[in-house]
Amino acid sequence: MKCIYCGQDKKPSREHIISAAVLDLFPECYLSIDMTKGIVHEADPVIKDVCSDCNSKIAYIDSYAKDFIGAYFLKKYSYDENPILRYDYTLLQKVLLKYAYNDLRAHRRDVSFFDQEIRNYILDEANCVPMSNIIIMAGVAVNRTPAPDFLYGNLKLQMIESPMLFDETMVDFIDYNEWSFKLREYPKRLEMPDLLMSYAFRFNSGQFLLLCFEKLKTDIEQEKIVLECSYPYAVLNETGEAELPLCTSYLNYHHLGMVCLKWDPAFELSYMAQRANENNEALQELQQKIDQIEKQIVKEHPRKYVNSS
Ligand SMILES: [Zn+2]
Repeated sequence: MKCIYCGQDKKPSREHIISAAVLDLFPECYLSIDMTKGIVHEADPVIKDVCSDCNSKIAYIDSYAKDFIGAYFLKKYSYDENPILRYDYTLLQKVLLKYAYNDLRAHRRDVSFFDQEIRNYILDEANCVPMSNIIIMAGVAVNRTPAPDFLYGNLKLQMIESPMLFDETMVDFIDYNEWSFKLREYPKRLEMPDLLMSYAFRFNSGQFLLLCFEKLKTDIEQEKIVLECSYPYAVLNETGEAELPLCTSYLNYHHLGMVCLKWDPAFELSYMAQRANENNEALQELQQKIDQIEKQIVKEHPRKYVNSS
């Protein structure tokens, strides 16, 4: 096998698409659902095109991912909380790039963005200069819909290629005073001509957008301003600190690939749904039962790779 990092003909090793160390944080998520292929895997999703030398070289990314996600996103946040995130910008870029690259290869998709420079960047722990043609945005995911998480299964860890960043609101008011509205069937998507690859990630209560642009073509600083003004996400940067806004609304919480504009009335509907459901005892009881079931699942499906990276 030709290793995709060093290019040498070597024996393959098991590279986890999402770090085993991160999967260890969520033992209740013991199944992986591949929506594109329509397959459910009980084993951890892995790809076998990385040699063991390169695999151990990139293990530093897995350790960071585990510490970072473990520190911030194991807990749920309430809708009025804006946690302060402290992060290593370069390492976070590498985490998301590595996951996206793994996922693209596993699905035999276009990996042309990952040229030698990007592959070396991922491989080289000592390289601490972030890529300037990459934007990362982060927000907090809070369920304010009437549909509890468990209705959709255990979707705490998700990644999706080419999320839709809408350029129009999903909700269109017909009469604001009468509170009558309709949903736009196909809201326009934001056009970013120099965007080569993009991904959305959910790590339980944290949501991230990875936007990768052509080198030198886009005015990236301008792009960051437009994105931060338009979407309820913080644009991360080398300061290593950001206050995370609530990025999910009533309409897109259960749909990671749909990114609403900040001013979408969907957020107002979320507030109403939140108020309608916060004292719903039946729902709270059901949630408690689900929490118990999750604990049982953890007992029944112990992680095989505990403490691995
Ligand atoms: Zn290699």
